[in-house]
Amino acid sequence: MNVERRSDQSWCDAKVKGKSDPSHSCGDSSGGSSTHCTSAEVACEYDGSEREVAQLREQLARTSAQLEQYRNYYEQLPGFYFSLTSEAIVEQVSAFAARQLGYSRDRLQGQPFVNLLNGPQEVRAFRQWWTGADWQHHSDTEQIHGREVTLQCADGSPLFLRLSIRTVPPLPPGDLRGSRTFPHPANEPERVLFVGEEIGDLKQALKNLEQQRQFGTQLLEATDVLVRNFVSTVLDTANSLVVVLDREARIMSCNLACEKTTGYRFEQMSNRRVAELFLIPEEVEAFHTVLVQLSSGNGPNHHENRWLTRDGELRTIAWSNTAIFEEDSDRVKYIICTGIDITERRQAEQALRQSEERLRTQYKHIPIPTLTWQCVGDEFFLIDYNDAALAMTGGCVARSLGKTARCMYADCRELVEELKRCFRERRTIKSERFYRFCATAEPKHFAIVYVFVAPDMVMVHTEDITERKQLMGALQRQARRERLVGVIQGRIRHSLDLDRILATTAKEVRRFLQVQRVAIYRVSPPLAEGGSRDLTFVVESRTSAVPSLRDESLDWRWFDPEPQCAGDGLPVCAIADLETADLPSAAIARLHALGIRAHLQVPIWIRERSGVAPDSDRPPERGDRLGLWGWLWVDRCSAPGPWEASDIDFVEQIAGELAIAIQQALLYRQLQLANQELEHLATLDALTGLANRRHFDAYLNREWQRLAAAGVPLSLILCDIDYFKAYNDTYGHLAGDRTLREVADALRSTLREGELGARYGGEEFALILPHTGAEEAMSVAQTLRSRIHALAIAHKASSLGQIVTLSLGVATRVPSANLSPASLIAAADDALYRAKALGRDRAIFHHSIGPPPGHCP
Ligand code: GH3
Ligand code: MG
Ligand code: MG
Repeated sequence: MNVERRSDQSWCDAKVKGKSDPSHSCGDSSGGSSTHCTSAEVACEYDGSEREVAQLREQLARTSAQLEQYRNYYEQLPGFYFSLTSEAIVEQVSAFAARQLGYSRDRLQGQPFVNLLNGPQEVRAFRQWWTGADWQHHSDTEQIHGREVTLQCADGSPLFLRLSIRTVPPLPPGDLRGSRTFPHPANEPERVLFVGEEIGDLKQALKNLEQQRQFGTQLLEATDVLVRNFVSTVLDTANSLVVVLDREARIMSCNLACEKTTGYRFEQMSNRRVAELFLIPEEVEAFHTVLVQLSSGNGPNHHENRWLTRDGELRTIAWSNTAIFEEDSDRVKYIICTGIDITERRQAEQALRQSEERLRTQYKHIPIPTLTWQCVGDEFFLIDYNDAALAMTGGCVARSLGKTARCMYADCRELVEELKRCFRERRTIKSERFYRFCATAEPKHFAIVYVFVAPDMVMVHTEDITERKQLMGALQRQARRERLVGVIQGRIRHSLDLDRILATTAKEVRRFLQVQRVAIYRVSPPLAEGGSRDLTFVVESRTSAVPSLRDESLDWRWFDPEPQCAGDGLPVCAIADLETADLPSAAIARLHALGIRAHLQVPIWIRERSGVAPDSDRPPERGDRLGLWGWLWVDRCSAPGPWEASDIDFVEQIAGELAIAIQQALLYRQLQLANQELEHLATLDALTGLANRRHFDAYLNREWQRLAAAGVPLSLILCDIDYFKAYNDTYGHLAGDRTLREVADALRSTLREGELGARYGGEEFALILPHTGAEEAMSVAQTLRSRIHALAIAHKASSLGQIVTLSLGVATRVPSANLSPASLIAAADDALYRAKALGRDRAIFHHSIGPPPGHCP
């Protein structure tokens, strides 16, 4: 601070007035005041005597000396002393003060005091104080001691002073000892003496303290704000509702979640009672009960109610309550309720409950018997069952409640295993079992579905499918039966091999009925009217474990004592248990020895004409009666047991089919015979019974082929009755026919096995002689010619001895690929022609080289 800078003294308008009143300035204990008073007294008594003047001068001199001592002392005092004029000009300054400020005393003296002040603020404050100071009442402690100023040292540093202020008379100017200007003029204004006490350290300490205090306060405030913000932030960000109630359940505070949930702002809720603002009538009483309990300090920690929100929605809230008590009292002051909006949870729970209830109802009433098993460790415990299960088991299942699966299914381990498997594989599995639910129940077929419903729970649907199973079995068997009947029918229709039909039918019937033996017996016709019949074994199909019936002689009357009463009503013999059968004891013993436990015997009826055996070659005709052909015989050797009607039907159906097959076979045999007859007739000449020309051709060709392969000769004889036209003319055609037959018979008599005689043309005949050479053939020809002669059939128109004669042409060839049968015929014909030409009644061998063998004229 530049002291020179501040020279403005305009504000120092002589506030310290020089109108000192001696009465006012006295009474002060300070030395300065006392000196002042003494001077005044001196001035007042100036006009006294010389002696008195001398005394006064002496006194003044002493006083001046004293004053000088004081001044020196004063100047040496290590203190801050400033003497200011009424305009606040520094008149005197202590050496110590000048040193502390870093200025010379001369420099400071005469300067306005404000120039020493540190900064405009200090200047402003000082000026205000200086002009406002009531110097007349400067004894006021505050006035005197209360002033603090900050001066600026020469090096710019502040100097803090607390000033004690006095008003004092002005000092004598200059050197007081040598002063001649004594006394002071009366109007000289008083001076203001500042006595300073440096308070820099104190100020710093105070400042530090203040700073610390402020910092502490700020810290506290900050911490408080933080804590308060933290709490409110936490509360506001929490999803939970937080409501502070007083003991009357008036809302004192709440958080954001509460506002959000209820739709009210806090201002709208503040001081309102919970019951009147939020509760629907039916909730009020319960809440009051809670409130009363809470107010007594024994309230429930938790309660739940529904709050009606501003938009009319009911929210279910689960509250957790904390009571805050008044200090030193057991009276509740506040209740802090923390609530969680569980509306959705409750709705979900309710929905779940309803769903559970629905499922439970369904579970209880579904018509499928259902058991629920809970897995604990390795065991499954029956924990529930439904009405259908109760009904199905006849109440047995109720007794098994709480028991283990091992115990309940002691006789069906597979069920326990399946239960475990369902649990282990965590999936639905299905099975079918035949078992009894409890000891007293009938074993039944069950369709079982294991449903994995929870990690420790398996639900088992157990449905009695016995009837369905039986029905299915019956349907399947029906289908199989029909299929089998169809197969047998097809076989019968496509095959005429009765033996084969009977064999395969026996086999398939056995397989279908799953019995050990099926046989077919033929009932032989009685040898005489009223006579007995015999059973003839035809075929059987059996397992290797049971003996064959092939060589067993059985009496069919054991089963049908009245065989002659055959008809539509003849019963099927179905024996469920041989031991109790209504049969002769000998029969039972015999059949038992054959392994039979149950027996089924079905008659095979075919149509027959009265008195004609069914196995005759005659086919059935309209009007035929039913005749017993035989029995279809079925033995069950495993165990006795009733025969199902459907099985009996089946066997009867098969017996009917067999009857058709048998009759068809009979028809076929008839047909075969007829065909053979027809075929035979087709090869014969009707007049002579010899082979006809067509058969002659076929036979010659076949033999030609056959003998060509063997490389052996084949001979052919063609013969013609001589002058037969004339014979007819003479004796007539009928006689001619008779003669033709006689010649044919003669010819037939010459034939050996494998040789064929044929009527080759009108009165021409032919003999095919396989394996026959030329000579032998000529011999046959001669024999035949001789036999015709021997017949001696009169022929008076013939010039050759008046009897019927033959001309014969003979040819022999070894058949080969180069030759044809026609060449043989041609050769024989040629020979015949030559025989006719040579005079008839002769046999001529055809040969191109040399004479024919055994040629006879
Ligand atoms: P040749 O000695 O030369 O054989 O003289 P032929 O009269 O026997 O021969 P021809 O061919 O002239 O006459 C054959 C006769 O045979 C004519 C015919 O009336 C007779 N004839 C052919 N078939 C039959 C027949 O089935 N029955 C009868 N009664 N005569 C027949
Ligand atoms: Mg002829
Ligand atoms: Mg002739």
